[in-house]
Amino acid sequence: MARQEKPVDVVLVGLGWTNSIMGMELAQEGLNVLALERGEDRDTVPDFAYPKMADELTYGVRYKLMAKPAKSTITVRHSLTETALPYRHLGSFLPGDGVGGAGTHWNGHTWRPMPEELRLRSYVEETFGKDIIPADMTIQDFGVSYDELEPHFDFFDKVMGVSGKAGNVNGEIHEGGNPFEGRRSSEYPLPPLKRTFNDELFTNVAKEHGLHPFPLPSSNASEAYTNPYGMQLGPCNFCGFCERYGCLNFSKASPQTCILGALKQHKNFSYRANSEVLKVELADDKKTAKGVTYIDKNGEEVFQPAKIVIVGTFAYNNVRLLLLSGIGQPYDPVTNTGTVGRNYAYQMMGGATLFFKDKFFNPFIGAGSNATTVDDYAINQIDFAKEGFIGGSYLLAAQTNGQPIRSMPLPAGTPSWGAGWKKATKDYYGHSMSISSHGSNMSYRDCYLSLDPNYTDDHGLPLLRLTFDWKDNDIRMTQFMKGKVEALAKGLNPDHLNISFKDFGAKYDVRPYQTTHNVGGAIMGTNPKTSVLNRYQQSWDVHNVFVLGSSSFPQNLQYNPTMLVGGLAYWTAKAIREQYLKQPGPLVQA
Ligand SMILES: Cc1cc2nc3c(=O)[nH]c(=O)nc-3n(C[C@H](O)[C@H](O)[C@H](O)COP(=O)(O)OP(=O)(O)OC[C@H]3O[C@@H](n4cnc5c(N)ncnc54)[C@H](O)[C@@H]3O)c2cc1C
Ligand code: SF4
Repeated sequence: MARQEKPVDVVLVGLGWTNSIMGMELAQEGLNVLALERGEDRDTVPDFAYPKMADELTYGVRYKLMAKPAKSTITVRHSLTETALPYRHLGSFLPGDGVGGAGTHWNGHTWRPMPEELRLRSYVEETFGKDIIPADMTIQDFGVSYDELEPHFDFFDKVMGVSGKAGNVNGEIHEGGNPFEGRRSSEYPLPPLKRTFNDELFTNVAKEHGLHPFPLPSSNASEAYTNPYGMQLGPCNFCGFCERYGCLNFSKASPQTCILGALKQHKNFSYRANSEVLKVELADDKKTAKGVTYIDKNGEEVFQPAKIVIVGTFAYNNVRLLLLSGIGQPYDPVTNTGTVGRNYAYQMMGGATLFFKDKFFNPFIGAGSNATTVDDYAINQIDFAKEGFIGGSYLLAAQTNGQPIRSMPLPAGTPSWGAGWKKATKDYYGHSMSISSHGSNMSYRDCYLSLDPNYTDDHGLPLLRLTFDWKDNDIRMTQFMKGKVEALAKGLNPDHLNISFKDFGAKYDVRPYQTTHNVGGAIMGTNPKTSVLNRYQQSWDVHNVFVLGSSSFPQNLQYNPTMLVGGLAYWTAKAIREQYLKQPGPLVQA
């Protein structure tokens, strides 16, 4: 029988960006808030201190900060007729683990969504007609608008100390920023990061092609900064150990550097690391949760009673916890019924590496979000009817690192060992730059998440099963981007050019890293028949359960998700503070 802990007002499941935000918002409200995090406790000091954070083997190759597939993984298959197999080695995506979640080892690319992306189905139907959407494409509106979220994006910008140049302030287009972005109510809190040589080359060639280059919005601080919670960031020193590492310098925005230090000062907030939640426990009416069951650091089963349960365990973990807890009806792609698990989507990446014998790019200078980008191929800029696909991408020229094990790009055809490899390494280390495309991914009826019938975790509970593959729409989009990237790359006259974009017939491959921007499965919307959560990320079925993170997205953005994930967390927190606490119950009537 499980040990029972003292009741709390709110239990937060997971302690990454989403629940750090929620913890702060609800602790400020005076509630008694407890966070349960399955992984270890971590902080800048002592865990990210120099020199251990420059150990590429431990952190970059062996993924010290990330989830351990031997403890927790998913199974993967391409179609309904295949048997899924476990994802035993991290590859395609690198989920977080431990206090701070993936927000400690992310890059800090900090994009807002396009207003049109939040109402994608309506936008496509209004602009191009209903017939353009394939029958099996299940894109939806989010049920919340950009204008409603804007104040929360603005605040999250300030919490993270984002460095950038605005392109649209209150409808006025500003030179040097993104002219296609949605309206912002203020300029970024910090100026852009300093420019590197690749930025200069990309900016010039993009302008020659009539595009609108601007500095990538970055959560690597360009200057010293104090955020609204009193947390201080120092200027990024371009140390080159950013993605996959914790920041040794208090420069990368993370739950630790921006929120947790201040949140821990609240006496009504506490957290327990090494505490893995197995289930949200429901009351007999099945319409309310009474708390969660978790395994504590000693391996003991514990029941934690709570009035409100907030699930923020990362996209697909959220879906698994709902399925294991019996919250909502599991999705069935054959009958097209149920909701939990539907609309899983990923992202479509492609890129080029340009090699120059006579140009040197100092690879020891780099930061996770040191880049110049263009957004001329955004979702609201492409004529879907003409191009034959629905989607969009941004282009990026980044210089993030020159780490010796993983960051040694060589021209295609170079031998992978021996004298040929040595010569090419000598000739080209530090002589290359990249241009990549980062694209949306639409949702489909047969791309979904469910409990695996064959594989279980170390508690004997079913693993989550991912059924996913690329569709022609997404290949057409990436091939379109290939043409654009190739033209820009050739404009820079490299000596060698490697180009890598998916082509028709490509199967989803779990081995190479692509992106950790997994979305969907517990999507928000306006109709309980086609969404798991209402517009406040509140479960339609169990009103005191709220689910945060990119599991809410009905399809994937062309951008990195964290600004939207965080903006939605603030939006939900406001709804809890201003509406739910006054009158607990469904915030939207079904
Ligand atoms: C390598 C990498 C680079 C990235 N770069 C960018 C970027 O540049 N820009 C961008 O916008 N986004 C980026 N992201 C994505 C970004 O990190 C996520 O959007 C963000 O961290 C999501 O926050 P979250 O709170 O939803 O989940 P997480 O940060 O994943 O936190 C969830 C927490 O829940 C815990 N947990 C899981 N299951 C349980 C359980 N059963 N019980 C208790 N705790 C549990 C996990 O251990 C984890 O700590 C990147 C991600 C990765 C991995
Ligand atoms: S590159 Fe900058 S933000 Fe990233 S880890 Fe290094 S100092 Fe921190």
